[in-house]
Amino acid sequence: MPKDAAGDTIRHDWTADEIAALYELPFAELVFRAQAIHRRHFAPGEVQLSTLLSIKTGGCPEDCAYCPQSARYDTDVKAEKLMDLAAVLNEARAAKAAGAQRFCMGAAWREPKDHELDRVCAMVEGVKALGLETCATLGMLTADQAARLKGAGLDYYNHNLDTSPEFYGEIITTRDYRERLDTLGNVRAAGMKVCCGGIVGMGESRLDRAGLIAALASLPVHPESVPINLLVQVEGTPLAGTEKLDDIEFVRTIAAARIAMPKSMVRLSAGREEMSEAMQALCFLAGANSIFCGPRLLTTPNPGRDADREMMARLGLSPMAR
Ligand code: SF4
Repeated sequence: MPKDAAGDTIRHDWTADEIAALYELPFAELVFRAQAIHRRHFAPGEVQLSTLLSIKTGGCPEDCAYCPQSARYDTDVKAEKLMDLAAVLNEARAAKAAGAQRFCMGAAWREPKDHELDRVCAMVEGVKALGLETCATLGMLTADQAARLKGAGLDYYNHNLDTSPEFYGEIITTRDYRERLDTLGNVRAAGMKVCCGGIVGMGESRLDRAGLIAALASLPVHPESVPINLLVQVEGTPLAGTEKLDDIEFVRTIAAARIAMPKSMVRLSAGREEMSEAMQALCFLAGANSIFCGPRLLTTPNPGRDADREMMARLGLSPMAR
C-alpha cells in the first residue's frame, strides 16, 4: 500500500469493524496513536479557526431529526430570508478582525435555486476579496451549480454524511445517502475542497459512529475538513431528550477520525458550548485541530471569541498559520 511523505498509509478502504476495533483500544493507547499521527502531519498546538454564519435561516423543507431549522418541527427558530450582501460582508470583516481564517456561509435549503445561487456567488466573491478562505453549505448541488460556485472563488463546500449508512434512515428520510455522495462528487469534480463530517450523540451505536468514520475515510479523496459535531439537543426536534453521549466516547471518535484521515483537519464543531475545557483539551490531544469560533453556530450557541482566546492561551494553542 502506498505511503505518504510522513510514512503513513492513506487508506480509503477502512471498514466499520476496523474503526470499531480502534474504539476498543485502551483510551491512552488510542489517544497516543492519534497524537503520533497528528504530529507527523501538523504542527502540534496549531488550531485552524473558522467562523460560520447563517445567511438564510429556518424554513427548510427537509426532515433532519436533529435540526431546529426544519420547517417540520416546532422550535424557537424563526425563518428568515437570505441576508443582504452588505450584511454578510460586514460579518466577514468582523470575523477576519477576530482572527478567523475561513468564513463559512450556511443556508437552510434542500438545494439552492439558480437566482439564489447568483446571490451566494456574489457573497463568495466579496468574502474572498477580503482575504478569507471561503466555504458554503447550501444543501445538494448539481454539477453546474458546483462549477458556478467554484468560478466565484469558493474554496470549500460543506456537505455532511451525518451518520453511518445504516443509521441514516433513522435521522433523515427526505434525501438518501446516495444523493449526499453525489453532491460530494459534484463538488470534487468542480475542483473545490470538501468539508464533510457528521454528528454523534443522536442515539446511534458505537458501530454506527465507526461506520460514519469509515464512510468518510472511504471517499475517493479524504475530505480536507472533517467536522465532528456533538448533537445539540433542541426542544421541538425529534432528537430532544436523546441520551447524552459519554465524553470519552466523543474523544474516541475524534481519535478514530484522526487515525483514519491523517491529513484532514478534524474540527470540533457543534456541541462545544456544553464541553468542559478539559474535554476539549483531550480532543486536541486526540488530533482535533480546528474549531468554529464566534458566539453562534447557525442557530445554536457556541463559546464566545473571548472564551476561546482564553482557552487557547491556557492550553498553549495558537491559530494555524495559513
Ligand atoms: S440540516 Fe440542513 S437540510 Fe437538514 S433540516 Fe437542517 S437546514 Fe435543512
